[in-house]
Amino acid sequence: MPTVHPIVTKKKIRFEIQNISPSSLGLVPTMGALHKGHLSLIDQSTIENELTVVSLFVNPTQFNNDEDLKHYPNTMDQDLIKLMAYGKKLLVFTPTTNEIYGSGITAKKFDLMGLDQSMEGKSRPNHFQGVATVIQILMDIIQPNKMYLGEKDFQQLQIIRLIKQQLQWNTKIIACPTIRESNGLAMSSRNIKLSQDLRIQSQSIYRSLLYAKKAIETCPIHLIKREVTKTINQLPNLKLDYFEIVEPKTLTPISKAQKGQSYRGCIAVYARHIRLIDNIEIHY
Ligand code: AMP
Repeated sequence: MPTVHPIVTKKKIRFEIQNISPSSLGLVPTMGALHKGHLSLIDQSTIENELTVVSLFVNPTQFNNDEDLKHYPNTMDQDLIKLMAYGKKLLVFTPTTNEIYGSGITAKKFDLMGLDQSMEGKSRPNHFQGVATVIQILMDIIQPNKMYLGEKDFQQLQIIRLIKQQLQWNTKIIACPTIRESNGLAMSSRNIKLSQDLRIQSQSIYRSLLYAKKAIETCPIHLIKREVTKTINQLPNLKLDYFEIVEPKTLTPISKAQKGQSYRGCIAVYARHIRLIDNIEIHY
């Protein structure tokens, strides 16, 4: 089966991109186990840029749980086959941990202005410091003109937008819409671990978001939250971690919606031990 030859070292990737016009280089950072959500980002970047670098790197500093890191899906061979289709428009960067971190595998400390304190940040302490650290390292190596990120990870998107401002990167951040399975479940590398039964139960995650989007017209926030909690927790193998309606810039949970404002409904659910997240725009 023909496959892509990935580039492992910083030196080699820098060499390969040196002659590309700086205004035409896209970066799609991923942790591999590629699905159609990732491919939609790569599609957009290859349309908009002469060359795209896609990185496949499972970043240890964003995991606060060793078991989660150990069991993170790895489908490198299939990933490389999927990436064949992009031909010369794509370079695949698969650095080792040592290449990215040297001997000190630690996250830096960014001032994330509290954006890391709610939701994912609360449930996964230090997660976003790890994300910010690896993104900064990749940005230093690749220096792309545009970086493509999924709205699926909304809190991550807002945090990377913040550090872009703080560090005054010239890179444009392109937010790409969430790609879903036909039943509405947001695509995720973790979905391959779902049994058929869990997959069916997990449809209620997106349904709950659609409910919240509609219910904002008539229901107070605390009742919407109560209903979402009940819907998820009544399923035998699902457990709600959080559901919040937040102000999109500050990610602060709101208790009362203001007419004319847009918010984000954000949810995290455990389907047995598999953690699934999703979000939706909510306009009042
Ligand atoms: P990950 O490999 O999970 O770190 O994701 C790499 C990038 O793909 C991130 O910018 C994600 O937000 C994005 N992504 C993941 N799942 C989806 C999806 N279902 N639709 C669109 N983008 C996604």
